[in-house]
Amino acid sequence: MDILDYYNEKKWCEKCGAYVRFLMSVDQSWCVECGSPVRLFSKSDLQAFQAGLQAEKENGKNKRRPKAS
Ligand SMILES: [Zn+2]
Repeated sequence: MDILDYYNEKKWCEKCGAYVRFLMSVDQSWCVECGSPVRLFSKSDLQAFQAGLQAEKENGKNKRRPKAS
């Protein structure tokens, strides 16, 4: 299964501790299992995602390669 399809179909439910199918409303999505609000990523996945963005930023900065000395 392609990982992107997986994320499109499921979101993270903190209460279930798993990626679950969800119901979508205007500005929030809800777990079909327990009715809790769900989010796109789990905390650890979100951190990995943000770390990835940060690394990209820093790579961009380093393109100019300023000399340290
Ligand atoms: Zn749930």
